[in-house]
Amino acid sequence: MEKNKYFLENLTDFTQPLKLVADIAELYALKYSADLLTVKYIIKLKKRLGAVELTILSAGEVLFAKNIDLLEIPEHKHKQQVKLSLFLAFRQIFPARKIAWGILRGVRPLKLVSKLLKKFQEPELVRSYLIDNYALTAEKATLAIEVARAQNHLLAGYGKQDISIYIGIPYCNTKCSYCSFPSSLLPNQAETIEIFLQTIEQDIQNVLQLTNEYNLNVACLYIGGGTPTSFSETHFRKFVDILKRYFPRTVKREFTFEAGRVDSLSKLKLEQMHVLGINRISLNPQTLNEKTLKLIGRQHSLSEFYKWYYYVKTNYPEWTINADIILGLPQENIEDVRFTLSQLKEFKPHNITIHTLAFKKGTELFQDVGRYYQVNTLSQMAILASDFMQKLNQEAYYLYRQHYILGNLENIGYAIKGYECVYNAMIMSEKFTVLGIGPSATTKIISDNGKITTFFMPKNVETYISEIENLLTKREQLFRNAIKKQE
Ligand code: SF4
Repeated sequence: MEKNKYFLENLTDFTQPLKLVADIAELYALKYSADLLTVKYIIKLKKRLGAVELTILSAGEVLFAKNIDLLEIPEHKHKQQVKLSLFLAFRQIFPARKIAWGILRGVRPLKLVSKLLKKFQEPELVRSYLIDNYALTAEKATLAIEVARAQNHLLAGYGKQDISIYIGIPYCNTKCSYCSFPSSLLPNQAETIEIFLQTIEQDIQNVLQLTNEYNLNVACLYIGGGTPTSFSETHFRKFVDILKRYFPRTVKREFTFEAGRVDSLSKLKLEQMHVLGINRISLNPQTLNEKTLKLIGRQHSLSEFYKWYYYVKTNYPEWTINADIILGLPQENIEDVRFTLSQLKEFKPHNITIHTLAFKKGTELFQDVGRYYQVNTLSQMAILASDFMQKLNQEAYYLYRQHYILGNLENIGYAIKGYECVYNAMIMSEKFTVLGIGPSATTKIISDNGKITTFFMPKNVETYISEIENLLTKREQLFRNAIKKQE
């Protein structure tokens, strides 16, 4: 028996029963909460003819017992039914813990919601289905339906020939304390960066050869990271020259450049982006509280952020500006979030993405997970943010979740109508091919029958460079196979 956690007894013939229980137990933070350190839970799942007995005991006392009737339920739904019962049992045992998304887990909850909308047509039926079968709260069910409808509407004009390209630059000038991205510090040696840029160029050539051959339309080009603007001005110019060679101004509808941290910007870099023909930029303060910027390891002050924000807005008025903020940053309370939101109201970016802090292994903050587990406060922050967005006429149009997201919440992209980021919606829908260039970039090739073929570039920059020939051959083969199946 594993101490201080839960114990499974009489496992049934479910595949991965441990995972089934672990998924639910994790939602209730059994691993994290101090009050459970001295308590052991015994969860019994026993299969009988057409039913499963579920019993949860603690210190010899039965906390919950139920006979889950499976006779009327199709076999492929048995597992989900047991999961739901287990979830409802925990909800009864720990009534104070609000798990708003119920048993709907995974990064892209809207995929299921979109399918249900297609099946039932009526949003009200979908809402009831999500509440009854996945134990979503009424608020989350409504949110999921609204966002799924907005996302579907945004993508309605795109077809199977429309794809996106992502180019990931894995470097940053310093590391933020919450960062879980596979980014590294910008190397000092110019030669290392030159080699990296040559490899990126090779990767771009390979991707464009395929898009040309298959007559695909690059609807969105997204330069992300890391921080793509972290290059020195000399290397930035070289990077932009590569992009100019391969992406003439006319081929894309949406060309986004992430300039996440304003301390990496310069007037020259912005001018080069302008010449390149970008039409969206991300300037991501994450918070507008000076004290928090320091705590999370940002090297710039608030006044620097404002200076650059207004510089971009004044000099490049045709660009759509996105600003990201994060809920749940260390030592931020609801008033801090209110302050950040009120500042956003002042300078009105077209697009605001509201993230909730997610802990991932490898981050400094992960070590301190218990301290930041404050579900109710986070929910209030999310409600406050959503109210602010309404006042700003920003509508939610994409949504995703992460594994260790605080408060079991979600990340939501908001935009003023007409300023949505199509790339974000495409990537979340998994209905459009996205070709990923650079270390740790993901490629998803969508076949005509909806099958998804995934390919990951290695996270390690040295491996990416040394293995590039093999990697390109592998991605190309996968691409050709997936596309061939369409013919
Ligand atoms: S800027 Fe982004 S990628 Fe770079 S360290 Fe900070 S969170 Fe990580």
